[in-house]
Amino acid sequence: MDKFVLKDDVLTNIITALDSTDTFYDTMKYVIKEAQRFLFTSNAGIYQISSDGSSLNLAVDYSSEKARKLEKGPFRADGFFLADDQGALVTTYSDLTESQKKIMDKLGFKTCVFVPIHINSVCAMYFAIIESRNEIKFSEEQIQFIKDVTMIVQSIAQRKVTNNSLISSYEVLREILSRIGSGIMVFDRNNGNVLFENDIAKSSQEYRRALKSVTENKMPDLDNLQFNLKPVEHYDARSGLWFSIKFSGLTWIDGSDAIVCNASDITLQKKNQQKIEYQANNDFLTGIYNRMKSETDLVKLLARSAQTGEKGAVLFLDLDDFKHINDGLGHQFGDILLQEIASNLQNIPMIRKHCYRMGGDEFLVIVDHDSYDGIDRIIKAIVSLFNKPWDLMGTEYLCTMSMGVAIFPDNSLDVNEIVKMADMAMYEAKISGKNRYAYYDSKKGINTSRRYDIENNMRQAIATEIEEFLVYYQPVINTENNECVSCEALVRWDSKALGFIGPGEFIPLAEYLGLITDIGDYVFEKACLQCKKWNDMGFPDFKININLSVVQLLQMNIVENIKNMTKRTGVNPKNLTLEVTESFAINDMDRVLKIIKEFKESGFNIALDDFGTGYSSLNYIKKLPLDVIKVDKTFIDDILTDEYAQSFVKLIVELSKTIGTKVVVEGIENEEQCKMIKNLGVNFIQGFYYGRPVSSIEFERNYLGKKLEGSNYVIEDEKKERLCI
Ligand code: C2E
Ligand code: CA
Ligand code: CA
Repeated sequence: MDKFVLKDDVLTNIITALDSTDTFYDTMKYVIKEAQRFLFTSNAGIYQISSDGSSLNLAVDYSSEKARKLEKGPFRADGFFLADDQGALVTTYSDLTESQKKIMDKLGFKTCVFVPIHINSVCAMYFAIIESRNEIKFSEEQIQFIKDVTMIVQSIAQRKVTNNSLISSYEVLREILSRIGSGIMVFDRNNGNVLFENDIAKSSQEYRRALKSVTENKMPDLDNLQFNLKPVEHYDARSGLWFSIKFSGLTWIDGSDAIVCNASDITLQKKNQQKIEYQANNDFLTGIYNRMKSETDLVKLLARSAQTGEKGAVLFLDLDDFKHINDGLGHQFGDILLQEIASNLQNIPMIRKHCYRMGGDEFLVIVDHDSYDGIDRIIKAIVSLFNKPWDLMGTEYLCTMSMGVAIFPDNSLDVNEIVKMADMAMYEAKISGKNRYAYYDSKKGINTSRRYDIENNMRQAIATEIEEFLVYYQPVINTENNECVSCEALVRWDSKALGFIGPGEFIPLAEYLGLITDIGDYVFEKACLQCKKWNDMGFPDFKININLSVVQLLQMNIVENIKNMTKRTGVNPKNLTLEVTESFAINDMDRVLKIIKEFKESGFNIALDDFGTGYSSLNYIKKLPLDVIKVDKTFIDDILTDEYAQSFVKLIVELSKTIGTKVVVEGIENEEQCKMIKNLGVNFIQGFYYGRPVSSIEFERNYLGKKLEGSNYVIEDEKKERLCI
């Protein structure tokens, strides 16, 4: 605590000793002890001087716990450390002569201050402040304090001697109260009249208002007033200052019951306290609340739910692929992105006070009871924040997120549990393809253990059993002549421990865990070798499409890496088509363009995968030097009935003609769809209608260099069907 405030405290306490009815000894004991609270020296005491003035006697003493006790005396009153006027004489050991030092040694003083106490104008005692451990230097403030205390001690002594009323001390009291660095007002306890106010209380409007507020608001309390009531804090809105107001009872000079109010300015302390609270509760990077604050807020909200049954929700957000944005593009970008997200979250009306950054790229939002009715709107607002790219330092980034929702009290009333549930739901959203949200589902609890199974086994497989990953190939057909012109490489995982797992289940997890680069490299190399083999077998123009995850593409050395693998396998890059998704394509356009151009210059083809899903903009297509646009299966599902889907496909076909790209439509499952797509002018089709993804052996046997007469390939046995999907 601020020493300044402590000094006022101490002086106010000492002043109350003025009308104490205790013995002189007890009163002095109290005063000295109080004084020590401010001074912190090893000892303090009151020495009486013998009537002939030749010797000193210790009358009252105080020694701090570890300090040497003061000698009782009597001993010779040596003039060199005694003051003979009203002042205080500070004596420091090293300034003394050898003989004086000896005397100090005997007394055990290193630094001492002796102030005379006059009774009936005669010096009768000394108030002594002593440091016996080492030499110290007193500040002006401390010396003034010692003098003030001496005056009070003198008044008490005088009063005890003359048994007088406080009238004799009034001048002293007034002088001291005026010098205290805080505002003082003395009120009559019975009628609230102001009996005294010091200069600060008189001249400063802020102090005046603070002190008056006590009588205006809290006077009723005064009936039960005891010494040292708890201080009251008062905020003066007009000046922006904070005050702490303390009370003590006192018998006033005219004998009336009075109350001393002492207002000290604690603005600085308050500000420091607020700063500390801010730091404890807010995230340093984004300024929004942090995890700790989320916990304290949840405790309160859950307690209310427990009582009233009212509902609320916890939304757990985790950015998709953020780690890779950070690694690939640099931390400044990552930091700005997090700040942008935080401030945009906070701008959503109903959750303004309940947005938290949990660390890394995780955010938490609490929907409190009052906003719960609007939860759908809140979720929609959050989701739509992530549907458009963020403008970071002039470039655009798309950063999607996965979100989990847990409801209280329904799911849990425990702070840790409810957050964990929202986290689990987030994870479900993430592994079911990212960029979506999911509600916590207790039945999915089993999935959590599966998720750990997959995670552990995947790490294991990558380290020692990479062959467990299989590359399957799905034919792409040119509808003009029904020839199989290329195929797409699609990974599967035939795990010894877990069985056959499709990419939909483990690819998002691999991306999340940062394992996708290992798997991706493996698939790439396999596909290259396969392509080289088929090219050498007499199909020199046959092409393979290979998927590149956004996470891979965000690696700094991606182009080098791909080029090296291509060289190693000897495949001609013109027969490789790299499939990138829209979500990559709309990140930092300059960078994406640079990477794609480098690929193109090295001879690779580029396909834009899943076109029409996420954030579509025809502008992007125009800007990128694409060879292929792959229209997503979602358009095909309703293509027979949905006119929008039909015109969309038509538009893409038209556009691609003008910019010289091919259009591949994915997910054609039946003849009707196939016909419709052909009518819309699409020439390349990939879908179960022509063939599912199959092993290289089967592909070679059934599709390589073959013409398919539009019939669905018949799956030979059930097992194969299971494996292929
Ligand atoms: P994608 O790149 O869009 O691949 C096409 C997916 O659609 C494949 O699913 C394919 O089996 C499926 N498909 C094709 N025709 C039809 C159809 O007529 N009907 C239906 N219902 N589905 C059809 P798959 O093999 O399960 O792969 C899912 C996704 O996993 C891929 O979507 C791709 O995003 C990812 N993926 C697969 N292999 C790799 C890989 O090696 N690397 C990376 N980064 N991602 C991969
Ligand atoms: Ca693909
Ligand atoms: Ca696709």
